[in-house]
Amino acid sequence: MVLGDLGKSLAGSLARMHGATVADDAVLAGCLNEIARALLQADVRFETVRDVRANLQRAVGGLAAGANTRRVLQQAVVGELCRMLGPGAGAAPASVVLFVGLQGPGKTTTCAKYADLHRRRGFRQALVCADTFRAGALDQLKQNAARAKVPFYGSYTATDQARVAVEGVEMFRREKCCDLIIVDTSGRHRQEAALFEEMRQVAEATRPDLVVFVMDASIGQAAFDQAQAFKRAAPVGAVIVTKMDGGAKGGGALSAVATTESPVIFICTGEHMPDLEAFHVEPFVRRLLGLGNLPDLIDKIHEAMPPDDTEDDMVKKLAGGGAFTLRVMYEMFQKLQSMGPLGQIMSMIPGLGAQLMMEKGKEREGQAKMKRYMTIMDSMTDEELDGTSPKLMNRSRIARVAWGSGRLVADVVAMLEEHKRIAKVWSKLPMSKRLMNTNSHGSIK
Ligand code: GDP
Repeated sequence: MVLGDLGKSLAGSLARMHGATVADDAVLAGCLNEIARALLQADVRFETVRDVRANLQRAVGGLAAGANTRRVLQQAVVGELCRMLGPGAGAAPASVVLFVGLQGPGKTTTCAKYADLHRRRGFRQALVCADTFRAGALDQLKQNAARAKVPFYGSYTATDQARVAVEGVEMFRREKCCDLIIVDTSGRHRQEAALFEEMRQVAEATRPDLVVFVMDASIGQAAFDQAQAFKRAAPVGAVIVTKMDGGAKGGGALSAVATTESPVIFICTGEHMPDLEAFHVEPFVRRLLGLGNLPDLIDKIHEAMPPDDTEDDMVKKLAGGGAFTLRVMYEMFQKLQSMGPLGQIMSMIPGLGAQLMMEKGKEREGQAKMKRYMTIMDSMTDEELDGTSPKLMNRSRIARVAWGSGRLVADVVAMLEEHKRIAKVWSKLPMSKRLMNTNSHGSIK
């Protein structure tokens, strides 16, 4: 079961409980059973599922008659999932970051994504390929470095990876050309003494500020043993879990890593540069349940903006709690188009078909829909775009806009309905507070 499916199952169980006339013991027991079943299907460890069930039972068990059992249960589910997938503490950017792991989870790709992300955040960084074991690793990282516009060091002939790593790190330090040096190391198909010994040598030689262990989500619960083994062999300070887009076992993997008390800092959700997401437990869980993830959305908007443009009009509009007019929706669509994979972005917006858009294959559909809606809005007057009264769009105006934009009347009606739906969700969000707490990198404290 992919994580999106787990989110849908859990959200479905909660919704069924919301739909029941009375939340009596039988309804509650049914809901808890469904939640436990969904977690087990997502490959979460049996012991963890048992604890989650017991904690949920405890959270709602002692409630007085008339108390809002449904709301308490929803909050408890969010809390339990956060606990299950935590700790998730972020790591500060360090001057030397060493990437370690087996062969194949996406270490090299993740190094490039990590560099690209920090470049967009305004850091100057360099990439060092110390993988002298896998043929092709050097060219792969070199190409990725070029794509991410990052300086690169590597050797086609050297066999001693500790030496290559040190040469690269020293060269970039000497040149004083970067704040962050990212070192990719060799992996092996399986854990073995030679791998750990090399890892130890590279770590000793480069004295990294942060060792990042990269692992593949599709191994599910086996992540526990793997994360433990790497943690014992090297001073692992953070974990990146890759391939969260494909495997059926992402939830199991995340919760297994959490059990080793290693903070997951990022998750990867695809093969491309922007498919690296900061991992914060609560927003992740909220998104899983289709509740939206506005702090991450605002982060993305800030990342997409030039550094001196942090007071961007749309962010102010989004965060300032102003009316959600058609023009705001238009500008939001415009920004979204320039902000990387649509599925990722869409899923951060509550009310915008979050779970639907996360599914692979639906992205193009979502993109086309946005473009269609923007074409329709292009045929509207300023008064209509800035107005907050739906009455402006009467039958004859709808027909006129449809004609002007070359779309069907049904498309215009669908766009207006969509706007109404998002505006309704939007109006309930305490956004102005979020803007107050936005720091210079655009992340929410
Ligand atoms: P390494 O041996 O650990 O350095 O692995 P690579 O970086 O060469 O990646 C192995 C394969 O996994 C490549 O085909 C990558 O494109 C792919 N890959 C890496 N990260 C992800 C991810 O998050 N999702 C998906 N679907 N594929 C990924």
